[in-house]
Amino acid sequence: MKALIFFDINGTIIKRDSRTDIPFQKAIDNLLHAENAMEGVDTSARSDKDVFMEVLRNHRQDFSEAKWEEFMKLYHHQLEKFKDTDVWRDNADVLSFLSKLCDTEHILSLITGELNIGAKYKLEKIGVWQYFKTGGFGEDGLRRYDIAEAALSKAKHIHGSCYDEIYIIGDTILDIKTARHLGAKVISITTGSNTREELAAEKPDYIIDCFSEIKHLFL
Ligand SMILES: [Mg+2]
Repeated sequence: MKALIFFDINGTIIKRDSRTDIPFQKAIDNLLHAENAMEGVDTSARSDKDVFMEVLRNHRQDFSEAKWEEFMKLYHHQLEKFKDTDVWRDNADVLSFLSKLCDTEHILSLITGELNIGAKYKLEKIGVWQYFKTGGFGEDGLRRYDIAEAALSKAKHIHGSCYDEIYIIGDTILDIKTARHLGAKVISITTGSNTREELAAEKPDYIIDCFSEIKHLFL
């Protein structure tokens, strides 16, 4: 069985905590000349661009491409500042799982609300960015379904359709719904935003606490 496996990032590959989004928050504060401009905004499972637009609305500002470009420069600067700190850490046993998975014929990709540049910095920090040739990112759509559709069409463009099954691995209920949308199987991991009970209520194909529990599927 050859699978096309889409990984979520925050809460799945990267340990999710209050510090994970600090570079993004600081870039927004710098853009708006504000402090804690993102306070009260729920970022879980959302596109970074969608979050950016909500913060602008909260501050009674219109979105423009110029503002977006300015933000991207500020965000890049913050990512560079934080790349040698420990704000991004690997989640559970993801490193050993990915290093074994990359020696198989399975195709690895990403579906994330992270902007491509943020995903690159985070995954380079923990040494796994090179495993993913492509993915759907925060600039590919404002909604998770749009990002997932973009991820699937990019994967098909690069790898063709020579896989037997599609899987999504993620920590939220939205990852489960996204998998249904794509016609994919879904593996929910309990290390993120939703509890085991919340995830179980949506009936994912598998619920795991760590990646070694799905070794039998892929290795
Ligand atoms: Mg997540």
